[in-house]
Amino acid sequence: MRFHRFSIGAMAATILSDGPLLLPAPATLFEGPGPAAIDAALAAAGQPLDHMRIEQNCLLLAFGGRTVLFDNGLGAEKPYGPESGRLPDSLRAAGVDPARIDALVLTHGHSDHCWGTMTADGTPAFPNAAIYLAQAELDYWTFDAPDDADRDGFRRQVLALRERIVGLEDGAAFLPGVQAWLTPGHTPGHMAYLFDGGWCLTGDVAFHDPLSYAFPEARSVYDTDQALAVTTRKRLLARLADERLAVIGYHHPWPGLGRVERVGGAFRFLADG
Ligand SMILES: [Zn+2]
Repeated sequence: MRFHRFSIGAMAATILSDGPLLLPAPATLFEGPGPAAIDAALAAAGQPLDHMRIEQNCLLLAFGGRTVLFDNGLGAEKPYGPESGRLPDSLRAAGVDPARIDALVLTHGHSDHCWGTMTADGTPAFPNAAIYLAQAELDYWTFDAPDDADRDGFRRQVLALRERIVGLEDGAAFLPGVQAWLTPGHTPGHMAYLFDGGWCLTGDVAFHDPLSYAFPEARSVYDTDQALAVTTRKRLLARLADERLAVIGYHHPWPGLGRVERVGGAFRFLADG
């Protein structure tokens, strides 16, 4: 369990950990730069070459009597190692009653972002929360996604609560001070979220520090549409750097807060602190 408090303008913010994921060797997950360049970037960052260990940083916002959670981790299932599924403990440690959360906002429908919507026994983990995600993402998982474990999970975790779901369009200002930004490619309806005061929650558009920044043109095996994901990643990173937005990175080293700057034709993530 782990939590980190800060503020976004007048909003009280907390990063809550769902625990890290264990993934295969990074050089097998990105195509384009080649294994030597990838391993050199990892070594320079002091990261292992033979596996990837990335955080799951969930954001909680409290403002105007509302409590809003962005993404909710893997829940009770353990497809990426034994250390995930800690969000309930992190909420408890931070003194947050899940029943108090009135909005659940999803960046996209992958397991590590929404399989904490239900408890292990199939009841809603956040019994009073409406669920917000892109209408395009909802349509993808409802109609177009391959019939595999991811889609089956989305059905059980999110579509089971269909009456609570609100589909968002690009640019929707659906909560005070919060705006949806459609950033497709990783999944067809991936949403980043912008907060008043110059903040951006980036989801999985650039999921890995340093590889997604050093090699924005690299194709990731986790992207549904790899070419579109590259275009979107470059567009998002350019905006983060040029507008000097504060970044909240879901899979970035704990607690995932920092800024982006340009380095030649690529980028660099500068963690706070
Ligand atoms: Zn992810």
